[in-house]
Order: sequence, then structure tokens, then C-alpha cells
Amino acid sequence: MRVAFLGLGAIGRPMAAHLAARDSLTVWNRTSERAREFAATHGAVAGETPREAAANAEVVITCLPTSREVEMLLEGPDGLEQGLTPGALLIDCTSGDPATCRRIARRLAERGVSFADAPVSGGVSGAEAGTLTIMVGADAETYNRARVVLSAFGKRIEHLGPVGAGHAMKAVNNALLAVNLIALGEGLTGLVKAGVSARTAVDVLNASSGRSFASESLVPERVLTGRWPQTFRLALLDKDVGIALTLLKDSDMLSPLLEVAGGLLASARAELGESADHVEVIRWIEHRAGVQIRG
Ligand code: NDP
Repeated sequence: MRVAFLGLGAIGRPMAAHLAARDSLTVWNRTSERAREFAATHGAVAGETPREAAANAEVVITCLPTSREVEMLLEGPDGLEQGLTPGALLIDCTSGDPATCRRIARRLAERGVSFADAPVSGGVSGAEAGTLTIMVGADAETYNRARVVLSAFGKRIEHLGPVGAGHAMKAVNNALLAVNLIALGEGLTGLVKAGVSARTAVDVLNASSGRSFASESLVPERVLTGRWPQTFRLALLDKDVGIALTLLKDSDMLSPLLEVAGGLLASARAELGESADHVEVIRWIEHRAGVQIRG
């Protein structure tokens, strides 16, 4: 299959590497050296513009920070929209927002191009292993087309509903991740202050009902060790919580818990900067509490 992949960031790059091993792949990245280096390493072709990258592709995949950048990518004489040919399929793996992606889908439908939102979960390690969970919003026929392509890097590929449903599912998932991370950071700093060993506290949580992905993986691998690798930016998690809040407000729901989590993430983002990793919110909590969670 002729596939184009646009957005070789932390997670896009390993996803695209799986496609390069299987399909005829063209890549594009805003910082063009990254696309050229990827193409040389993986036997792909680097397009100079989004239009050029998409020109011969049956399927185009985008993986950018937010839906806003995806919509902007369509614009202009060298934009993606000009490259998409009637009958092509655009799969957006960005963790985006439902309203913008529905607008994009309507715009592309006028050109005879199909659209699926297909955000992913499983992190950079899951992308490298080809075991991502993928949450798809599309009509049934488009989902079946997309599934074939997504199987290059996905293990569980779920059809959630019409366009926008994948983004909605992903936002709620990441809102739960944010709440778990923050609550765990607060709880552990309290336990350490009370004289409990951080390692023992995490072990006990993981054998009890308070456990989560954050307690089972993120905290043991990154906080107890003090390693803080950069895999998923805190700014992106903050964006996801904002999407989840909008989703709930649009359904006339109140979410005081998410409002607080979003406020804390926004404060941590303002202090730590745009490149900080999401788990560093715990470092920020440690700093405010005056203790470290190590062991
Ligand atoms: P990164 O910040 O690592 O990469 C972002 C990518 O988007 C880069 O290729 C960057 O190009 C490009 N980009 C940024 N701004 C623009 C723009 N204005 N126009 C065109 N291209 C742009 O993000 P990730 O790869 O981590 O995340 C991508 C998406 O996947 C996000 O929606 C994120 O929430 C989601 N996601 C990420 C996960 C992770 O573990 N990292 C896990 C699950 C989902 P350049 O190289 O020039 O900076």
C-alpha cells in the first residue's frame, strides 16, 4: 500500500517505522532534517511539503500535537488538502478534539476523501513494540479500511463510533491518567512525610485496590529511580484534560475533579515548561511538598 506519514515526533516516529517495514512510505515533518534522517534510516521517501508527501498516497496518517495543527496543515498551496486525491483516506492519530476533527472530516468529504480519528495509547514503548491500543472514530466502511493500515503498529484497534468518538475516548482515558498521577504524587509525598518508605508504599499500593498504571509502571520506573525520561510531554496531557473537560461541559456535565486536575497541570506546565515530561508533575508535587519519592 502507498502510505504517507506526517509528524515524526516522539510517538509518530516509531509508528512510522513499522509502516516503512511493510508499506511504500513517504514521510513529512515540519523540521525537515528529521524526515530526511528517517527516510535514510528506514528506506522511506521524504516529501518536501505536506502536499508532495500525500500526492501518491492511498492512505495518509497525521500525528501532530493537537487538532489545530492538523487543520492548519490542510491550508495553503503546499498544504495537505491539495495533495489528497479523491478516494484517499486520512487517518488522524493525533490525540485531538472531536469538534475540530468533525470539521476536518466534513471539509475532506467535499473532496471525496474519507477520514478517521484514531488516537493511540501505549506510549513510546508501545509504539516501538507495535502494541498500541487505537481508538477509532469513523463510519464502518472507513474503519475497515483504516484497520488494515493501523494493524502495522496497533494490537487492540477498537471502533468507538462515528468521527470524533476516538478523540472523545482518548481524552477521557488521559484525564484518568492525569487524575491518577496527581493523586498518587500527593498520596506518596504524604506517606514519605509520615515516615513510610516510598518503595514499600508503592509495593503495597500495587498489591491493593489503589493501584493504577501510574503506580504499577510510571512511578516505579521513573519516580522511584529518579530517571524522568522524556516520552510524553506534560503540555500534551494538559491539552488532553482540556479536551475531556470540554466534552463533559458540552454534555452539560459538571466535573469539579477534572477542573482541579486541569488547574494543577496548567500550573506545573507554566513552571516546568513545554518540553517537560508528564510524569514530572510528580516532581513538581515533590517540590511543593518538600520531599522526594525515591527508593
Ligand atoms: P511531539 O511533541 O514529540 O511531536 C510533535 C510532532 O508534531 C513533531 O513531528 C513536530 O514537528 C510536529 N509539529 C508540531 N507543531 C507543528 C506544526 N505547527 N505544524 C506541523 N507539524 C508540527 O509529540 P508526540 O509525538 O509525543 O505526540 C503526538 C500526538 O500523539 C499528540 O497528540 C499526543 O498527545 C499523542 N500521543 C503521544 C504519546 C506519547 O507517548 N508521546 C502517547 C499517546 C498519544 P517538529 O519535529 O518540527 O517539532
